[in-house]
Amino acid sequence: MRAAVFRRSGLPLTVEDVPRPVRAAGEVLVRVAACGFCHTDLHYLDHGVAPAKAPPLVLGHEISGIVAEVGDGDSVVHVGDRVLVPAILPCGSCGVCRSGRENICPSLRMPGNHFDGGFAEYVAVPSRALVPLPPEIDLQKGAVIADALTTPYHAVVHRAKVRAGEWVAVVGCGGVGINAVQFAAAAGAIVLAVDVKAEKLELARRLGASEVLNPSEFPDLGKEVRRRTGGGVDVAIEVVGKPETVELALSTLRRGGRLCVVGYSSSTMPLPLNRLMFFEYEITGSLGCRPVDYPRVVEMVRRGLVRLEPVITGSVPLDRVNEAAEDLRRGTGFRTLVVP
Ligand SMILES: [Zn+2]
Ligand SMILES: [Zn+2]
Repeated sequence: MRAAVFRRSGLPLTVEDVPRPVRAAGEVLVRVAACGFCHTDLHYLDHGVAPAKAPPLVLGHEISGIVAEVGDGDSVVHVGDRVLVPAILPCGSCGVCRSGRENICPSLRMPGNHFDGGFAEYVAVPSRALVPLPPEIDLQKGAVIADALTTPYHAVVHRAKVRAGEWVAVVGCGGVGINAVQFAAAAGAIVLAVDVKAEKLELARRLGASEVLNPSEFPDLGKEVRRRTGGGVDVAIEVVGKPETVELALSTLRRGGRLCVVGYSSSTMPLPLNRLMFFEYEITGSLGCRPVDYPRVVEMVRRGLVRLEPVITGSVPLDRVNEAAEDLRRGTGFRTLVVP
């Protein structure tokens, strides 16, 4: 089969013929319909972040497709089923999983990180992890639910615990942040979107942001946010992954505010401990999404409570996978689908 193979940071992906993955016990083979190109893929390609499995590795973890082959006696899914492959596959049996926090399972496996992923014609995945995609959701576009929608759902609902009527600042409105805007708005929050790109703020407004702010226009963004919100936001969600933007997000909080960090960074940063203590800030991290929530997000998409179409800004065949990387580097679009 054809697949886009990662060899090392600094090199583009090479599209080549590789053996079709072999299905292990409990696994099915999924024919990939589409796989979204995520910032995590860029971390491997450009920033020297090492995937869990040593290369050569097929990247891609936002996968939708059709079940092509099942094991004997597998009754969970059937050949021909339309499915979503979650970006995080927990072990399901460790103490962390059994406490209901499968998304931070120490033994979790991620396609395109721990094993060959979705920039390929086929992937082999555990059948019990698959999530059905209803016919009302476009099979290819549905791919982005696997990460770009479920990740902000978990952050907004479970980690930041956004409530109706609260002010929520979303710092960074890329492929994940723009959907944090959608979920916060769907939760009834008053959303303030922050990004340096005008077109991202424009879409954020269309998808439910009540206020938009470009930090390049405000030397003291925190002050401007506090002015517009009468004291600061209740919740700030950081979806960039840089110490500067975490600091920016902190500066928008009101007393008693909550910061939720979704963006990945390998950096460290100093924290204003006086404000942390006196203002009782709460700081949380957020990773991926629990299995129980995938069907909820799928149903929200099916019912139009959050939208896929505006967020998918491109689609390329597998042979042109590196163009999807380029789209993300330029920071112009939101999500580009890779279609084998
Ligand atoms: Zn991702
Ligand atoms: Zn586990």
